[in-house]
Amino acid sequence: MDKSWLQKGRCSPEYFQGCMEFLEFAWSHRPSKLGDTIYCPCINCINRFPLSKNEVKEHILEQGILRTYTRWTKHGEAEEDVINIRDETRNVNNGDGMHIMLQDDEHI
Ligand SMILES: [Zn+2]
Repeated sequence: MDKSWLQKGRCSPEYFQGCMEFLEFAWSHRPSKLGDTIYCPCINCINRFPLSKNEVKEHILEQGILRTYTRWTKHGEAEEDVINIRDETRNVNNGDGMHIMLQDDEHI
């Protein structure tokens, strides 16, 4: 997902469009325990308070969204680091498998 709009001015059409895309993404990925609210990533709430979709929209349009919030982990997006760790684990497992096979050969 393109998040370059995070760095655009709050009055730019790119920023407005990006905010709308964020709202739709966050809304469709919100955990059921939050009900009809999502965490507000504006510069004042900093993902600490769940608010209604409309309130979040007003906050990020009028106060601004956190510009460092490029990975929406509070809104259903996976952390890239987790994926990397999984890949490394899979590689290590492959190595173990080969090691076990070599040991079996020695027994025969
Ligand atoms: Zn807010």
